[in-house]
Parts: sequence; structure tokens; C-alpha cells
Amino acid sequence: MARIAIAGFQHETNTFAPLATGLARFIEPDAWPALVRGPAMLEAIAGINLPAAGFVAAAVSLGHRVAPLLWCAAQPAGRVTREAFETIAAELIARLRAAGIFDAVYLDLHGAMVADHLDDADGEMLRRVRVAVGSRMPIVASLDFHANVSPAMVAAADALPCYRSYPHVDMAETGARAAAILDQILRRPVTARVHRTLPFLMPLTSQCTLIEPLASLMREAATLEADPVLSLCLAPGFPLADVVDCGPTVIGCGWDAAALDRAAGELHAAVLAREGDFALDLVSIEVAIAEARRHPDSNGGPLILADTQDNPGAGGNADTTALLKALVAADLPGTVAGVIWDPDSAARAHAAGEGATVELAIGAHSGYPGETPLVAQARVLRLGDGRFTGTGPFYRGGRFDLGPMARIAVGSVEIAMASRKQQAADQAMFRHLGVEPARVRILQLKSSVHFRADFGPVAGRVLVVEAPGPNPADPGRLPFTKLPAGRRRRPTVG
Ligand SMILES: [Zn+2]
Repeated sequence: MARIAIAGFQHETNTFAPLATGLARFIEPDAWPALVRGPAMLEAIAGINLPAAGFVAAAVSLGHRVAPLLWCAAQPAGRVTREAFETIAAELIARLRAAGIFDAVYLDLHGAMVADHLDDADGEMLRRVRVAVGSRMPIVASLDFHANVSPAMVAAADALPCYRSYPHVDMAETGARAAAILDQILRRPVTARVHRTLPFLMPLTSQCTLIEPLASLMREAATLEADPVLSLCLAPGFPLADVVDCGPTVIGCGWDAAALDRAAGELHAAVLAREGDFALDLVSIEVAIAEARRHPDSNGGPLILADTQDNPGAGGNADTTALLKALVAADLPGTVAGVIWDPDSAARAHAAGEGATVELAIGAHSGYPGETPLVAQARVLRLGDGRFTGTGPFYRGGRFDLGPMARIAVGSVEIAMASRKQQAADQAMFRHLGVEPARVRILQLKSSVHFRADFGPVAGRVLVVEAPGPNPADPGRLPFTKLPAGRRRRPTVG
């Protein structure tokens, strides 16, 4: 039996996004808990689809004890401020030093955190933990599917298991995998690690593991993970980061360098052979509206329009209005859009009350260039306090706290809005406001891929729409300055 110090510090940083990520964003709750310290961490994360939750349950069932230090996460956005990173990192290290005697460390990290002063913030966090505990203590960190894995991360940690599913329905499962890996390392230290980069960026919307090519590539990664290979992962990376380590990697660890290299080489070659299959599949706003007009009534399920370039799960702000305005102009019955981040309009709707009509300036408050609010007379249909529990496979168990929410109607279009931004990836976000998504005809969602976990089974059809927003779907359009020569911004087709 071992005593394992555990902590979580998660952020996915879109370095192209305009809003910085300050300390307050880590302290406040959203779909996931507020910053939590010490033993309270266990109760706060229990039952939620989070790596740390899965790790704790599995580690305890393997007979280990855990020493919880702290856990926090913030919504994906621009660079983490120096104050936020240094404050949380310092507390994490201080708690680690005060944790008494322990045998190993587990960290719940993202792997694509960038701070004002650190392009590789996760690498630096891991390096500081390694310095604090010495060279022989096992350190295992689970990473997001979208980790941009750096040499510093690989050097500091014994193992870095990553999620294998996008939508991330396997976050808790990955934590459990990390516990099993750490359990093995405690008895048999790993002797080899591997880190290989791939030469092209994978667009987010092409990274979905419910479709090809990643459906089969992820299966292949799992089958290559067999003794003497302890862990082998393909991390597709987070393309919205102007850092040298941006991009997909193959990482792993084990007990035989040659066997590990062979397995990593096989996976690397399999991904390269499928490069062309990562090409983008997007439609314009005009095509989306034309398809919406043609879409039959809801019996076969809604037409879902994924507004990927404003996905708050990747650094967008869920408040761009180009697609929303086109839907309002089309005025198609049975249209619902959400979840728009607009605290001011939500407050006005609450002040007016259900049944009232109020003039609102909806969205476009985050300042994305060229965006203006949708100004309209809106009927207030339903109000909510933003507190409910996630029911879909991705946000399962998440105790949402999105502040005042409102459902309003502008003509035939209904709009769900919240006071805190959150990716529209769980049907509970709409049911909280009295909308049953399966019965909607046209459903605009501020999401790229995660929505597919919960909305996919009820959808009639899905189109990914290229409306203006701070999260360009095509990495080829991003103004990179630090990407190494030779790493292609988009997959080569054909
Ligand atoms: Zn991710």
C-alpha cells in the first residue's frame, strides 16, 4: 500500500483568444468545481467525469491511500496570467512539501496550459514537482486528449496517460488508468520513455474519435499497449496555441526501450498514413441556412449546427452572433440557439420576468472584431438559476453553476443564455430552461465536438458551420510565429 499525493491544475490555453485567464477563473465554479483544497477535494470531485475522481476511486480500490492537495480548472481562454499560475503553482508545491511522508505523486493536468511568462506551463509545473520530490519518486500525470506534449513534461514524469476519446467521455476512466499505471510503477519502475512529434496539425473538428480516422487510430494505440510497453498514447494536440510544442505527439513509457520505440514507431507511421483523412469538413452560414430550411420536422431529430469557431471549450466566448443573426433572419419555427454567454441580457431578462417583453442587445460583448450584438425585442420564456447536474456522458455528474440563465424568443428563434460561459455539450443545459433538445428542429450549439456525446444520439443530422469567431477551425489560418519549420499547419490531402 502506498500513500499518493494528488493534485489537479487544468487549463487549455488558446493563445490566439483575446481574454486572458486570471486567478478568479480558477477560483470560481462552472460545470466543474471551484478551486478546492485538502480533503474537501475528494467530496467536490466525487462522481464527476474528471481524471482526479477516476484516479481516487481506482487508487483506493487498489489499496492505496491518497493525500489530496488541491484541484482547480478554468474555462479554456487566453493565456493564464503570471499571477494565476504562480499563485496556484506555489500553493501546490507548498502543500506537497507539507503533505508528510508519501510514496508517489499523481497530477490531473491538461497539457496545453500556456501562461504569460511560460509557453510550456505544464512542463514547468511538472518540473517544479519533480524538484520538490526528488528524482526517484514516481510521478504520473494524466493529460487531456488535446495536450501539446513537451520534452519537459516527458522528462519530469514517469508516465503521461492521455484521454483516448473526443468527446472526452473517458476522463474518469483515464484517471483510473493512471492509477493502474502508477500501481505498476510503484512495484516496477519504468526504464524507458518515448516522445515523437507528428509533422502536421490536426484541426479540432477532425479529431473526433466517433469518426475516422481517429476511431481506428485510437483503437490501435490501445492494442499496442502491452508489456513491456506500460503506456502508449496518441495526443492529437491543441492547434490553437502558438508555442513550439503545438501539435500531435506519440508518447509512452515501459520497461524495454527497443520494444517501446517499435510500438511508438508503428503508431506514428499509422497516423502519418492517414494524414489526408484529417482534412476539414465545414459548411458556410449560407449553406447551413439553406439546409435548415430543407430540414424536415423534428421526428427524425434536430439538424445540429455546430458553431465551432466560437466554442467556449476551446477559447471562444459563446457570444458571436453571425450564425444567430442568420437564423433570426430566416425565422424558422422550432429553432433554438445556445448557450450564449451574456450576463447582462440574462440579468435584464430576470429583472423583466417570465412572460415580459424586453429590448436586449444579445451577445458580442467579448469584443471579437466585426461582431455586433443582436438587438431585438425579446419575449422572456423561462428563467433559471443556472444550477443543475450534468446528465450526458461528457459532463456526467458535473454540478453546474452558470449563474442566472434565461430562455428568450426573438421571432421564431429561441435563445438560451447564461451568465457564465460553458460549452453547449449537455442536454441538461437546455432542459434547465424547459427545452427538450430531441424535439427541437434546428439546434445551434456553441461546441466543436463534445456535443456529439450527448446530442449525437438524438440528432437527425450534424453540420459544422464556419461562422466568424476566435477559434478558427482551420489551423492554416492562424498567425503562428513559433511553430517549428517543417510542422505543417494543416494536413496535406491526397
Ligand atoms: Zn480536450
